[in-house]
Amino acid sequence: MPAHQPPAFPPNAGLCRACRHAHLIESARGSVFLLCQAAKEFSLPKYPHLPVVACIAFQPQTPPPDTVE
Ligand code: SF4
Repeated sequence: MPAHQPPAFPPNAGLCRACRHAHLIESARGSVFLLCQAAKEFSLPKYPHLPVVACIAFQPQTPPPDTVE
């Protein structure tokens, strides 16, 4: 039995894809949601509308995670 793969960022994640505040949540049905962990501090949507193209709370993550194409 193959090991469960961690959820990957959707291709339309935009800026969130490279942000250290982005956290992926996978539902029991396999849907992936992007949770912004800076939402409360910066009064941003908890689940941002993708793609995010500009964000005051963006902080780069190194290296950027893989993306599902
Ligand atoms: S801080 Fe901005 S760029 Fe980072 S995860 Fe939240 S909404 Fe996306």
